[in-house]
Amino acid sequence: MRPARALIDLQALRHNYRLARELSGARALAVIKADAYGHGALRCAEALAGLADGYAVACIEEALELRNAGISAPILLLEGFFDSSELALIDQHRLWCVVHAPWQLAIIEQARLQQPLNVWLKLDSGMHRVGLHAAEYAAAYRRLKACGQVGEVVLMSHLARADELDCSRTEEQLALFNQARSGLPGAISLCNSPAILGWPQLPSDWVRPGIMLYGATPFAGAQPQAAQLRPVMTLESRIISVRELPAGEPVGYGARFVCPRATRIGVVAMGYADGYPRHAPDGTPIRVDGQPARLAGRVSMDMLCVDISDLPQAGLGSRVELWGGAVAASEVAQLSGSIPYQLFCNLKRVPRVYCGV
Ligand SMILES: *Cc1c(COP(=O)(O)O)cnc(C)c1O
Repeated sequence: MRPARALIDLQALRHNYRLARELSGARALAVIKADAYGHGALRCAEALAGLADGYAVACIEEALELRNAGISAPILLLEGFFDSSELALIDQHRLWCVVHAPWQLAIIEQARLQQPLNVWLKLDSGMHRVGLHAAEYAAAYRRLKACGQVGEVVLMSHLARADELDCSRTEEQLALFNQARSGLPGAISLCNSPAILGWPQLPSDWVRPGIMLYGATPFAGAQPQAAQLRPVMTLESRIISVRELPAGEPVGYGARFVCPRATRIGVVAMGYADGYPRHAPDGTPIRVDGQPARLAGRVSMDMLCVDISDLPQAGLGSRVELWGGAVAASEVAQLSGSIPYQLFCNLKRVPRVYCGV
């Protein structure tokens, strides 16, 4: 069997969830959209059952996968419904629903629901993707309250730059949010992972941790709260071939790496078809049998090469960690011009193996 796999530590996931709750002092929806950022939504939801206050996903397809597997906790649809036909299913499966646009309001007003809908009314406080304008927010709130279809209304917005700890944009967004919601009763929800970790002064009744659950930092540099996270995914494989090459010999496609000296190269069963970033540069850290080593040459579809010249004990069958406890996914991401979110979501082909159940 091909040795590439992703180990998923569910105990670390629970630790990170608890940290989100402790830091915020709020209830927390575990964001498990996009198959829990590549970690497996159902397994992650099950691992957090009895602990998480609820879950958040991107669309009804993701929510129904959880409901059909017996997950009964609250599930929030982060973009609400995409057309009116979804509303009956939302009602039937007791899903919570973001409302971010006037056309969604109109559909709710015309619906005949079995039970009061739980709405998260989203303000565009400066991200400028979705959300109601500040000037229409209070009126939308009142329409929801008046239409007879809606129970609780949570007041929410989303932060664009909370990962930049010295940027004033987060405070500007908070000010607009507070202005738009003034006089409106209801729980509030602003915080994603960088806000939970880095902006403890933001008010919260509900937080929405995503990337931090998986143990990756959303920040470009070191940050004390993020240092308490435990990585959930270890992407690993083994060396399947060894080459001893003299100085001057090229390795891999396009001869991007040329041996600067006599070099031992380990060939690892891991490539961009598994989700390892093709743009990782020479020198990207890789652990071989727990020792530091470096990527050598272009990543190909099914294999990549690592310089093991300084690791005489390493060879055929050596265990290789691409990211996890020793190599931070965020470091590999940064070197590759990406973010850990994308690395995790790109994971494919490798089997996921769960531990800490
Ligand atoms: C994805 C998402 C989150 C989680 O963001 P992280 O940066 O991963 O914590 C929170 N809120 C909304 C609205 C989202 O879409």
